[in-house]
Amino acid sequence: MENELLISLANVCIKIHERKLANGLSGNVSIRINNEILITPSGLSLADIQPEDLVVLDIEGNYISGNNKPSSEKLMHLEIYKNRPHINCIIHTHSPAATTFAFLNKQIMPISPESAIFIPKLPIVHFEPYGSKMLAESVSYNLKDCNAVLIEKHGVVTVGSGISQAYNLLEVVEETAIMNIYMNAIKNL
Ligand SMILES: [Zn+2]
Repeated sequence: MENELLISLANVCIKIHERKLANGLSGNVSIRINNEILITPSGLSLADIQPEDLVVLDIEGNYISGNNKPSSEKLMHLEIYKNRPHINCIIHTHSPAATTFAFLNKQIMPISPESAIFIPKLPIVHFEPYGSKMLAESVSYNLKDCNAVLIEKHGVVTVGSGISQAYNLLEVVEETAIMNIYMNAIKNL
């Protein structure tokens, strides 16, 4: 069971990269199994993640195992898990369309049926330095009653009870951001 989850996590990292939801060395993904957090390492593209590259931490962030340095956004992942006991997967990316809305602090309107259901509310978290405790607390606070947020001038975070829930939500956020761009372009024709 645990091995299957690790393979699923590695596969979703590759999918995130293939679908251009993260590129270069950006983006990080984690899962919770029992009381342990398995998180992608820093300095490695999501396209290349193998199960053995994951870093295992306890909920306080103490190192348990793994040969790499954990993602620089580990505080954000840990803080969300502490505050959302039913969340078992977190994805953070700089997906291009949603991140452009985040950069401009502009709301993404839920204009598709999926977005109306899954992201009726998509808060924009005020900018805080990358990897900081302030960012971790602010993102976690804004995720208390929803499963996706934008971070001003930074990117997107989605969470779910499992890997596919968090991933599917990321697709909905990015696709809805693209539709918002189309809508604004077409409105002015
Ligand atoms: Zn980031």
